[in-house]
Amino acid sequence: MEPKSKLVKCPRCGKMILDTGGETLTCKYCGALIRREEIEGQRDEDLERKIQIVKLKWEIDMLEKKAKVTQVVALVFIILGIIMLFSPAFKILQIIATVIFFGFGLFMYFVLPQKIDKLREEKKSLRTDLISGR
Ligand SMILES: [Zn+2]
Repeated sequence: MEPKSKLVKCPRCGKMILDTGGETLTCKYCGALIRREEIEGQRDEDLERKIQIVKLKWEIDMLEKKAKVTQVVALVFIILGIIMLFSPAFKILQIIATVIFFGFGLFMYFVLPQKIDKLREEKKSLRTDLISGR
């Protein structure tokens, strides 16, 4: 389990004080008597924040990979489009296929990674906020 002593925020003055693990503790700055329930909530909040920080890190890494994979798949589509373009018997179906492959490939290459990056940046800044804390 968690160690018995850790820093908790005084609900009255907001300064960090050492939680000695007793049923009540007294703030050495403002003298407020703090009940266990008041700091138990903080304990959960703190743990939840840590879990979210780890989770966001994982999501940020995943999004980075996702952007790369998307571009690799996009290149396959673009290459397929080029193959279709230079196919000897150029028929209407090939034109459609070329447009689809090119269009989809270009969209995946240029648009999707940007969207993924934007999402990643949002999560990054949220994570930074969480780390720097209240
Ligand atoms: Zn205090």
